[in-house]
This record gives sequence, C-alpha cells and structure tokens, in this order.
Amino acid sequence: MSVTTDVEVEPYAHFEAEVLAVRSVGASLVRVTFGGPGLRDVTSSGPDQRIKVFLPRERGAEVRVPTGPDWYARYRELPEHERAVMRTYTIRSARDGEVDVDFVRHGDAGPASRWAGAVVPGERVVLFAPDARFPGYRRGARVGSDYAPPRDAVWQLLAGDETALPALSGIVAALPVDAVAHVLVEVPAEGDGVDWSVPPGVTVTRVVRDGRSDVLAAVREVTLPDGPGYAWLAGEAGLVRDLRRHLVRDRGLDRERVYFCGYWRRGRSEDTPREPEED
Ligand SMILES: Cc1cc2nc3c(=O)[nH]c(=O)nc-3n(C[C@H](O)[C@H](O)[C@H](O)COP(=O)(O)OP(=O)(O)OC[C@H]3O[C@@H](n4cnc5c(N)ncnc54)[C@H](O)[C@@H]3O)c2cc1C
Repeated sequence: MSVTTDVEVEPYAHFEAEVLAVRSVGASLVRVTFGGPGLRDVTSSGPDQRIKVFLPRERGAEVRVPTGPDWYARYRELPEHERAVMRTYTIRSARDGEVDVDFVRHGDAGPASRWAGAVVPGERVVLFAPDARFPGYRRGARVGSDYAPPRDAVWQLLAGDETALPALSGIVAALPVDAVAHVLVEVPAEGDGVDWSVPPGVTVTRVVRDGRSDVLAAVREVTLPDGPGYAWLAGEAGLVRDLRRHLVRDRGLDRERVYFCGYWRRGRSEDTPREPEED
C-alpha cells in the first residue's frame, strides 16, 4: 500500500498571469491589474511584499520560466535571448484572483519600464509570488516582506522615492490609529500625488524632485520624537544610503532599527550583480 503525503508547498510559486486592466495612477506610475485562474493562491505576507515579475524580452513573446526548487539555476543557464526579463516589484494589492502592481515609468532604458509604458490588456507575464497554500502563512510567517517595527518603537520614519510608493501605501494603510510617524516621499513630477488618509499622529511630506536629493533635505528638517523609533527606507540606492547615514550618524538612531533597501541604482540595470551596501 502506498501512502500519500501532502505535497510540500514552498513559500513562493510561479503563477501565469494575464493583464486585465491598465490605468495611470499619477504622472509616473501605471497600475497593472493581473488575473488568471491561479492568482487566487497569491497572497501578501506584509505591506511591502516583494515579488518577481517575468516579462517577455519582446512584446508578445511567450514568457517561459523554469519551475521547481532549482528554477533559478535553470533560469540563469538559459541563453539570454530565451530568458524572460526578471524584475522585482511590490504587490500593491492582492484580492480574489487579481493582483495589482504599480510600475514606475522611467523611460525606455529599462525593459520593465518600457513594457509598462505600452502594456495593454491580454498580455501575459509570469509572477513569482507568495503562495497562500504555504502553511507557514497561516501561522503568521512573513517571507519577502520586511517592514517590521519593533514592539517598543514609539515613532516611525518612513521614507523613499516613487518606487517605494506601492510599499509605503500599504504600510501607511496598516498603521494603527495611534501611530506616530513621519512619511516622506520624493516623486518625479507634480502629477505624482499621494492621497492617503492617515491617523492624526502621522504627517506626510511629498517632495517633487528638482535635481537634488530633496527627501534627504526634508528628513533633515524633521523633529524626531523622544523614545525608541524605527525607520523604513527604500528607493534609489544612493539616496537610501544617505538617508540611513543621516539617521544613524547624525540622529543617533540604532542601526538595528533602520530597515533599508536600495530598490534600484542609478545607471545600473537590475541585471547587473549587486555590490554590498556601503555603510
Ligand atoms: C524589493 C523591491 C521592490 C520594488 N518595488 C517596485 C514597485 O512596486 N514599483 C516600481 O516601479 N519599482 C519597484 N522596484 C524597483 C524596480 O525593481 C527597478 O526600478 C527596476 O530596475 C526596474 O527595471 P527596468 O527594467 O525598468 O530597468 P533596469 O533594466 O533595471 O535599469 C535600466 C536603467 O534604468 C534605471 N532605472 C531603474 N529604475 C529606475 C527608476 N525607477 N527611475 C529612474 N531610472 C531607473 C537604471 O539605473 C538603469 O540605468 C522595487 C525594487 C525592489 C528591490
């Protein structure tokens, strides 16, 4: 007699997805809604949930991605012209078999930006995203989601650029009603608005980029409350490094209390191997 056991479900899985809708959500961002039978199993384990989006190298080409535990090694082995473009994005929202992703349109230099600039419903991609069937999620596990203020944090500073807007939107929406937080975001254009309704203790500062690191200047102006805090920083790598340095060196924030992530690096494609973050 053979005994069947549950097939082990990994935290992330590949999901075939079709573009259902495309709409502009500001001068620089476009919201793409993905659907497909499998997407009912996509979940978010936190407000800054990262995913991989696999896009066709040429518009309309089939997106084929190896699956299984060793998928990444097999993906890397594919000749470049057969390898789908892989980029990192954030789940803006996941509900009833649909997933929204907000793409920054930064011109034609990057394949993802180029794709998002002309995408229409019906196009197909593959998402590598948290699989709700992974049992750990039912126990509160978080995989690929990093926002985690320590329990004793009495204030938060959340800062980033337009690539962090999807994550910041989720974080802000999840803040408790008694939260004390400064949210500072740098955007490329006047038409990139933020329309969050926030608890009374939360201030939102939006700065429109004008050639300098404006959000760093804005963070320098913030009066931080007394007591233990927490910072979440994401955006262009150099900006994030400067923000972190300022908070740790000039403001004395314990580095363990600063989450930071370079979401992109000026002049470098995501295909370029990353260097270790400088202090
Ligand atoms: C955890 C995580 C979550 C992310 N979430 C999002 C998200 O929700 N939405 C989102 O839009 N981005 C997000 N990003 C950033 C996104 O992965 C990068 O911007 C990515 O490089 C875009 O790919 P591309 O093909 O357009 O450009 P690439 O081929 O990677 O780069 C080509 C050129 O474009 C430049 N470039 C890349 N991104 C930008 C930009 N935003 N503005 C100006 N120049 C740029 C590069 O420096 C390079 O010179 C996230 C990144 C991480 C690590």
